[in-house]
Amino acid sequence: MNISSHHSGYDETTPVLIAGGSLIGLSTSLFLSRQGIPSLLVERHAGTAIHPRLASMTARSMEIFRAAGVEAAIRQVEPPFSLDSTVPLVESLVGQEVDHYMDDFSAYFTNASPVQGSLIAQDVLEPALRAQVEQAGANLRYGAELIGFEQDEEGVTATVRELSSGTTRQV
Ligand SMILES: Cc1cc2nc3c(=O)[nH]c(=O)nc-3n(C[C@H](O)[C@H](O)[C@H](O)COP(=O)(O)OP(=O)(O)OC[C@H]3O[C@@H](n4cnc5c(N)ncnc54)[C@H](O)[C@@H]3O)c2cc1C
Repeated sequence: MNISSHHSGYDETTPVLIAGGSLIGLSTSLFLSRQGIPSLLVERHAGTAIHPRLASMTARSMEIFRAAGVEAAIRQVEPPFSLDSTVPLVESLVGQEVDHYMDDFSAYFTNASPVQGSLIAQDVLEPALRAQVEQAGANLRYGAELIGFEQDEEGVTATVRELSSGTTRQV
């Protein structure tokens, strides 16, 4: 279907609109680009994650990123990780170690996969992913919020507000 010819009067059209430019939104955009499917991603925040949150990627997740061609970019920014790594629980950065997490690293180092997991955190992973997604030619719009959408037989009509100017666009 030629989307443009069906939806004149819109500010823009896209085969896929992705709401949210964090881990899943960026990954979705990347995977679509690799399949030659254009998309528009809108994210209400000005940029990618500023907090670590997710602190690791399993071997399976890294397999998927390898297939998408972004493993090397992730390896460049990930911290060191080995089977004798540990994640300590401490009172403070200079305080006592109370306990430690992640005794079992079998999801990260497994003979079932040619790929090793990563100890990368979300605030480091997302900028690396974003750069790869931009390189793949995807349309990323940070500081833009999806504020509503309606569906009819021809597709979905979304209203996107640019947060800096307050202007809205029909997509
Ligand atoms: C404190 C904390 C610790 C965590 N630790 C771990 C961990 O150790 N391991 C682990 O696997 N996971 C962890 N997680 C979970 C992990 O962060 C999430 O699973 C992951 O972020 C989900 O990604 P997402 O892209 O689906 O959602 P999110 O990261 O929540 O991203 C959604 C994005 O959509 C944007 N958005 C929402 N609505 C709109 C809209 N209408 N228009 C435009 N943008 C919109 C938001 O601004 C946000 O950036 C943790 C989470 C938290 C909060």
